[in-house]
Amino acid sequence: MSNIIQLLPDVVANQIAAGEVIQRPASALKELMENAIDAGSSIIRVVVREAGKALIQVIDNGCGMSETDARMSFERYATSKITKAEDLYAIRTMGFRGEALASIAAISQVELKTRQLSDETGIQLIVEGNELMSKHPVACNQGTSISVKNLFFNVPARRNFLKSNAAEMRYIIEEFQRIALAHPSVEFSLHHNDTEVFNLKNGNFRQRIAGVFGLSYNERLVPVNEETTLINISGYVGKPSFAKKIRGEQYFFVNQRFVKDPYLNHAVANAFEDLLPPGCYPSYFIFLDIDPAKIDINIHPTKTEIKFEDDKSVYAILRASVKRALGKFNISPTLDFEQETTFNLPLMKLTEIPVPPKIQINPLYNPFKTESEIRFPSQVRNSPALENTKGQNWSSLYAGLKDVEFNGQQTTQSKLNIPEGVETESWINDTIMFQLASKYIILSRHEKLLVVDQVAAYERVIYEKNISALQNQPVVSQQLVFPQTMEFNQTEFSVFMEIKTELHAIGFDISEFGKQTLVVHGIPSQLGTDDIKQTLEKIAEQYLYHQKLVKPDKQENVARSAAIRLAARYARPLHVIEMKKLVFDLFSTRQPEISLSGKPVFFYLTPEEIYAKFN
Ligand code: ADP
Ligand code: MG
Repeated sequence: MSNIIQLLPDVVANQIAAGEVIQRPASALKELMENAIDAGSSIIRVVVREAGKALIQVIDNGCGMSETDARMSFERYATSKITKAEDLYAIRTMGFRGEALASIAAISQVELKTRQLSDETGIQLIVEGNELMSKHPVACNQGTSISVKNLFFNVPARRNFLKSNAAEMRYIIEEFQRIALAHPSVEFSLHHNDTEVFNLKNGNFRQRIAGVFGLSYNERLVPVNEETTLINISGYVGKPSFAKKIRGEQYFFVNQRFVKDPYLNHAVANAFEDLLPPGCYPSYFIFLDIDPAKIDINIHPTKTEIKFEDDKSVYAILRASVKRALGKFNISPTLDFEQETTFNLPLMKLTEIPVPPKIQINPLYNPFKTESEIRFPSQVRNSPALENTKGQNWSSLYAGLKDVEFNGQQTTQSKLNIPEGVETESWINDTIMFQLASKYIILSRHEKLLVVDQVAAYERVIYEKNISALQNQPVVSQQLVFPQTMEFNQTEFSVFMEIKTELHAIGFDISEFGKQTLVVHGIPSQLGTDDIKQTLEKIAEQYLYHQKLVKPDKQENVARSAAIRLAARYARPLHVIEMKKLVFDLFSTRQPEISLSGKPVFFYLTPEEIYAKFN
């Protein structure tokens, strides 16, 4: 029998290895940024095009490479970071496996320019699919600039596997944020298709967190500090009142390397116990510094897990230090923790148009009339539930409402202008309803007592309206007299860019206004002008939450996220007309029984069940 085993050619071996190290543009970016950090850079600039699919460029001012090293750097297992086995127990650098550049070069077109401080000229290399295409001396700044073009150009299957630009850009931002957070003393910038996404000056950790997530984070943070012989812990946890429903801002950095660790996470969550509303996750930004010999260094580049030699002690120290930090915060909640003076900037940007305070006037109010005679206040008449009924065949249901004089108890019996022939309309119109605890609507139907959860009902109604708006009939948004400019954090902003069209369809008339900033021209009719930013933030949060949870399609997700947020505004007293409209709308939806979170929207109580209570 002839022998059939052969050594794979380097190019093939590198392509296979690349599959493990580089899954998407963000993984290439991570490797390049880590190399720049390892090179001792104090300024790192990142430029991407088409979410990194067309170009990822990292420019640093680090140590640079000699001509020979520049050529060597593309070889597999070529590294300057370790030389012998023992070095593995003292790793402080981000990389050490010597795989990244070889992997990246195997699946893209790379241009490298680099110069060491001691050299007069630099060197430029062009490598395509691991093949050296050209090598020239070049005039360049000290440091290294690597451009990775057309990632996966020679592996179409991988290229086709990539997600939309918006989704890939989210991965890029995630990696960028992790590295930027881990190295607050380094200046970073990120540009995407000529737009500046981040520009982070060097500073302390608190300033970096605020730079990445927004100035508002400054007041949300509680410092954590603990020095022990085993491990040093430093950083911040978010105040419990700012906890989110999505596992968002949770960052552990072990020796400045981002790690995800369920065990450490448990320690922090445990320290927060009882302080968080149910279903909420704490945010944290915690550095753990430990002797590298006490952790498992066999860290695969794509993996973010870590193993501690003495994990029980690490757990206990972490938990205790977070608990202590929270305790200190709880005991003295007004204490201002080490305010950095640079944060005392005016929060309003120059571009922001101040919103004039709203004064609500009821033009019909007559102080000489007794209460029962007062007409239906304009505020309630214009309330969201009564608007935006355009194009629906029952829109005339409440036509003529403005002319109806309401008179205390008789309100529910007032005959409204109802189209003929629909069963629900007459029963609703003739039914007496009342509200309990600003939460439930109670009425009798089919000889039973019907109890409706009003927020859940609004969720259903708004959701179906959103779906129809998205599928065929965009709603008309309520235009603002003063368009509002508002800044968001990068994650939120990228969500809005991803779902801009969908938001438009359901009534948010928004446009991009430079870096992380939106101008809001119009809003859905259910929304008040005072609540726009918070609502958009919550929609982004819900959107990401649903995306992680069930991966619904985009339209479904937007319809759902916006409905949940907009419905939450209705946990308030309702006018009987609003109740009637809500109950009517609810029973006109396709699935009135179940709320968006899967709970019942209403239930019936039968006379038998009531009888049983008395007997
Ligand atoms: P590793 O980082 O694991 O050593 P890489 O493939 O990422 O492996 O890089 C190979 C080598 O190239 C590094 O060890 C380093 O010497 C050199 N190198 C890569 N990027 C840079 C950079 N931006 N500045 C200076 N040297 C670099
Ligand atoms: Mg590396």
